[in-house]
Amino acid sequence: MQRRSFVAGLGSAFWLPSLARAAAPLASDPFGLGIASGRPLPQSVVLWTRLMAVNPADRLDGAITVGWSIAEDERMQKTVRSGEAVAEPRWGHSVHVDVEGLKPNRPYWYRFTVQGKASPIGRTLTAPDATQRLATARFSFASCQMYEQGFYSAQRAIANEELNAVLFLGDYIYERSWGREHVRKHEAGVPTTLDDYRNRYARYKSDADLQAAHAAHPWIVTWDDHEVSNDYANDTAPDVIDPKFLLPMRAAAYQAFWEHMPLSNKVKPAGPSFKLYDRYRYGDLAEITVIDDRQYRSPNACFPESYKNRFLVDCADRLDPARSMLGAEQEAWFAEGMKRASARWNIIAQQTLMTELDSGKDGKHRYWADGWDGYPMARRKLLDAVAASPVRDTLVLGGDVHSFWATDLKRDYADAKAPVVATEFVGGSITSQTGKDTATQEVARNNPHVRYARSEVNGYGIVALEPAQATISFRTVTSVKERNAPVSTLQRFVVEAGQPGAKRA
Ligand code: FE
Ligand code: CA
Repeated sequence: MQRRSFVAGLGSAFWLPSLARAAAPLASDPFGLGIASGRPLPQSVVLWTRLMAVNPADRLDGAITVGWSIAEDERMQKTVRSGEAVAEPRWGHSVHVDVEGLKPNRPYWYRFTVQGKASPIGRTLTAPDATQRLATARFSFASCQMYEQGFYSAQRAIANEELNAVLFLGDYIYERSWGREHVRKHEAGVPTTLDDYRNRYARYKSDADLQAAHAAHPWIVTWDDHEVSNDYANDTAPDVIDPKFLLPMRAAAYQAFWEHMPLSNKVKPAGPSFKLYDRYRYGDLAEITVIDDRQYRSPNACFPESYKNRFLVDCADRLDPARSMLGAEQEAWFAEGMKRASARWNIIAQQTLMTELDSGKDGKHRYWADGWDGYPMARRKLLDAVAASPVRDTLVLGGDVHSFWATDLKRDYADAKAPVVATEFVGGSITSQTGKDTATQEVARNNPHVRYARSEVNGYGIVALEPAQATISFRTVTSVKERNAPVSTLQRFVVEAGQPGAKRA
């Protein structure tokens, strides 16, 4: 499939004969999967690409030397750093450059060159120094871009937003074909090997709108389940319960994830483990804590029965305090970070809806097994750590549920008077489908801590931080079934410093 599908995004490549090395110049663009930057720190960013030959005459065999450069201007006249990296076959010919020695809080432009071909020019932005007083910072947050179900107009819109960084919260790929009214196809089955996962990423990354969002901003990423297997928990999954099969798939999937994301060389995955959780600081205004609630979590409550009906009713196991969502090590790291936090806003970037959502009827309680509701004691522990932070204001950003939500996060949902510990926003899905909005509204009505819910629309969220308030906008596209669909604001919220809880604006 690599041979024929990478037509989009080739227009900006051009010849640079003077850069041709000993190897013969390539006839086709090796940058058909785009370029990206990520992990923005005050003095460094990661630059990414992955070489792939479109033309069969272009042989990308063995280790290939790739030139990179980063400049202070968009025409790349004032180069500040440059060098060479090696694209190795064992890492899928991916290129990750940890560029050091940059200045904080300023834009840079970058590009790659290989065998007479240059990549498009990308733009990135370093984070401000931790001590810098910052008046504003702006981030998009998004998840769930099922390729078959729609076009990525939302990613095109994200490319055009003014942002410090993009937060991507999981389901970057989907392993399985599902849903209605496909506009295009994976043209491959469910991945199990490293090459299968690589090809799935290549398929997604061939999309020009997605490439545009990567080329426009640095990305901060976490993952959810579909990067490996639907609803997986650590080493089990409804579709692959036996760890003997799931762990090798997880190793392949994690490696493919690293190969396709602007992540540091310092976190190369080793087998089925990958330390993805991380922290980012934006001056005195915000600290972003990125967590991984998939890799270390306990199996679903009442597993394996709960792998048939994904909802939990009368499952005492659910309340077992030993059940973990983050794993002991990440949990301790999280609590320590909250204790030491000192920015105006704590931002928690994570993958699944965090609030309690009881969908039971007639006095019965019913909870979704795969989200935080399957791990209520772990959620309480996390919120206890948030409440113990000297930082008063915490926003939790999430994905996974393919709908927009604004909720109050509380330590105890049974107590109507329990204080709101943090404010949650879930930013819809780029393309992935949901059920009916009437059902969403019914659940929202029955859960008074839910302040807003909306499904049957797609898009992303924007969080704009200022010292005294955060403004959150839910942005939607008119349709995912057509290309270049326009985007508009569905709903805007304000959270005032010192007053947790979303207010409609
Ligand atoms: Fe999803
Ligand atoms: Ca998911």
